[in-house]
Amino acid sequence: MAEAPPALPLIVPSLERLGLRRDRPLVIVDVDEVLGLFMAGFGGFVAERGYELRFERFALFQNLFRPGATEHLDLTEGRQLFDDYFRTDCGAMEPAPGAVDALKRLKPRAEILILSNAPADAERLRGDWLKRHGLPEALILSSGPKGPITAAIVAQTAGKTAFIDDLLPNLDSVAEHSPATARFQHVADLRLRALAPRSDRHPRIDDWAELGEAIEAAISG
Ligand SMILES: [Mg+2]
Repeated sequence: MAEAPPALPLIVPSLERLGLRRDRPLVIVDVDEVLGLFMAGFGGFVAERGYELRFERFALFQNLFRPGATEHLDLTEGRQLFDDYFRTDCGAMEPAPGAVDALKRLKPRAEILILSNAPADAERLRGDWLKRHGLPEALILSSGPKGPITAAIVAQTAGKTAFIDDLLPNLDSVAEHSPATARFQHVADLRLRALAPRSDRHPRIDDWAELGEAIEAAISG
């Protein structure tokens, strides 16, 4: 998971440019806390720099502390660590258990687009990370609520569509802007699951094997 920076002007590539077909179902998947264990990776990164990432609430910068401190780091320092992580270290993250296998099983039935809210600096490391884990999928780095960009992508396909994210603001945004797209919430980190808010607007499936089957059912027929 990651807190979204302010939205930038919307630039939406065509499906052709992304190497995706218009005549098959399309599955749009987040990275941090969906395909990859972001909090574990970022927690290790900040620990090497003498900070602690605590799991006290479903937030990011408010969970960053100096050892022993009761007040979290100020948001500017937190943002700097976040940007540094994406620029230099996000390629070392572990995949979420079951995610790679589930996407490989979906691949014969659907086009797959990775839609990640991450700084533009992360594009090469993030793309390399996907390839290294056998997921050389189309990748868009974005920012802000994901509904508008998802709607612009979905408008290009005749197939059924599904969207998977850990964050309710992104899921709510897709519900608003692309209501025909099936939505699923997935929270990969075991420690975050109890803290992560859920909503009866979007099915929450934290097991990737089960989630893969639900996605397949949603894009079939
Ligand atoms: Mg995420």
